[in-house]
Amino acid sequence: MDLLESIRNIKGVGEKSAALLAKLDIYTVADLVHHYPRDYDEFKLPVPVNELREGMVASVEGVISRLTSMNGRKKVVTCYLSDRTGAVKLVWFNQPYIVKLLKPGFRYLFRGTVKRDNAEFAIMQPKMYGRNEYIKLMEALSPVYELTKGITSNFISKSVKQVLGDIEFEERLPAAFRKENDLVKLSDAIKTIHFPKTLKDALAARRRLVFDEFFEFLMAVRRLKEEKTEEKNNFIITDYSCCTELLKKLPFSLTSDQAKTFETIKKDMSSKQLMSRMIEGDVGSGKTIIAMLSSLAVVKAGYQAAIMVPTEVLAKQHFADFEELLSKEFGVNVALLSGAMTAAQKKKVYKTIEDGETDIVIGTHALIQEGVNFRNLALAVIDEQHRFGVKQRRALKEKGLNPHILSMSATPIPRSLSLILYGDMELSVIKEMPKERLPIKNCVVDTGYRNTALNFIRKEILSGHQAYIICPMVEYSEDSDGENVIEYTEEIKDYYNMAALKEGHRDSIRIEFLHGKMKAAEKNEIMERFATGNIDILVSTTVIEVGVNVKNATVMMIENSERFGLAQLHQLRGRVGRGKWQSYCIFMKGCEGKDIDERLDILKNNNDGFKVAEEDLRLRGPGDLFGVRQSGEMSWKLADIYADADLLSLASEYVKAL
Ligand code: ADP
Ligand code: MG
Repeated sequence: MDLLESIRNIKGVGEKSAALLAKLDIYTVADLVHHYPRDYDEFKLPVPVNELREGMVASVEGVISRLTSMNGRKKVVTCYLSDRTGAVKLVWFNQPYIVKLLKPGFRYLFRGTVKRDNAEFAIMQPKMYGRNEYIKLMEALSPVYELTKGITSNFISKSVKQVLGDIEFEERLPAAFRKENDLVKLSDAIKTIHFPKTLKDALAARRRLVFDEFFEFLMAVRRLKEEKTEEKNNFIITDYSCCTELLKKLPFSLTSDQAKTFETIKKDMSSKQLMSRMIEGDVGSGKTIIAMLSSLAVVKAGYQAAIMVPTEVLAKQHFADFEELLSKEFGVNVALLSGAMTAAQKKKVYKTIEDGETDIVIGTHALIQEGVNFRNLALAVIDEQHRFGVKQRRALKEKGLNPHILSMSATPIPRSLSLILYGDMELSVIKEMPKERLPIKNCVVDTGYRNTALNFIRKEILSGHQAYIICPMVEYSEDSDGENVIEYTEEIKDYYNMAALKEGHRDSIRIEFLHGKMKAAEKNEIMERFATGNIDILVSTTVIEVGVNVKNATVMMIENSERFGLAQLHQLRGRVGRGKWQSYCIFMKGCEGKDIDERLDILKNNNDGFKVAEEDLRLRGPGDLFGVRQSGEMSWKLADIYADADLLSLASEYVKAL
């Protein structure tokens, strides 16, 4: 087999599975073998019932009794399993057919997560195993993959196993270098990451694969850098009087870090060399205005600017902001290029970009991939650059475009690492937050506090503010008991209605939900209504995480906080505290654990992204296999800039030597 072959050529992968795998971005054999497990399951001996503790993932074996099923809004099946030491309750939601599979008085083996259910322990959504099947599973670690509905970890691991025997992985690291730096062979690393015997083996495999991820990334950066040194500035911009005008119209003045950064940009764009600058600034430090000022200057000099963002929601929001400030007063034509538009609408926008009628175009990466031809693009802004990696800069070049580049990122990275990662760019850092901001007040609570939190949110809304509630999942799933956006929205609607009824009036809180599976047009509509204050509570998945700016929102509540990386939680929190009002962030825990408290306390005690990152690393230590991964940074699969800083340096040295 060849790495570039379609997965359809793998035995057992039919048209239907291929379509499902595409949802996980798996198209080729290479995509499949690089779809690494996100965790491993260790099947241990069943434990006696009296040794069960809250939060444990445990197997129990025994005889069942008291089998009942209820068919309310949630279909619940329960029974008790007894062994020599005691009995434990088993609970299934929305799996009514379970009742038919179980016979009271017979022995079964179950595995699931132990939760507290009032005064007793219960195992939620346990899976049933045959004895022999279970014994087999105990022999090795089982990979757990990121999945989509209709695809199981078992299916992926089977397919991987099939192709691994058939593929030669080209080894690009000399044996001496590998030996010296504890890097296993690439082919071994890939085999082991999927099917490790021990966690120690998995760690060693991971180390090699992380090195390769950094290596490839840094090679790309290096190429960009080498090309850059020859680049002449064809867009020399010297007149910035319009920017002074714009600054006068703003309701605030720039912080000194913002002002300094903009001065540097002016110098860049008026010099002989093309600009390639990275602005690093924590969430809410005010990077957008810098992009706007730079774009305005470029447009006034007769050129075009493009703003690239990672999500539709963010594109829409930037579009509205740019329009408001630049259209009327400065006669700048701003256009939005969105995935939600029809082909005909897009075509229209393409034309205005091509003939120069559009001055500034805002959109997702479709902006540089599709049939977009600029008349004279002089500036490309890449917002939330950490979501993109180097591909976008490369794509621009490949289109024959060579504009000034302004990248912006909210990932707090130590300067030494930034210099390696953004080796082809100059660096500006915005450390200072706008003056009027009040620090966000944080709390970490368990679900017993939920009603209090909901009441608190209601109070904020009645005083004119808005709130976000984040759930980890879109809809109900058998595999996870995390909160989901769709049911949660219904539940809190009920809750608020009841509360209002008790007070003798009708509830007026407007609640809507938002998630990534919705159509782009729907998402836009919801976001717009939230931004204009026509929705009070937005229940959302993390699609809301990046860049969204609604100043009037003062509460962020995150359900199942334990499931998110700290960096991601910090980004989510950054959605509030953007105006002059006191804002609040409520981290709701879905389960208990000392390590969970320790991690969340970092966020409770620090509002500064740098501090959060540092503390997070201190806690995890570099030996952590997957931890709770930092989300979406640089589109790496395994690498974590903090925890793997040593490998990043090593890869950087190696690239230099090459
Ligand atoms: P981010 O750096 O996360 O992209 P934004 O650019 O979205 O942050 O800015 C967050 C909010 O702060 C915006 O509403 C913006 O108008 C406001 N803002 C930006 N700079 C300042 C400033 N110097 N003083 C007060 N508010 C500011
Ligand atoms: Mg931003």
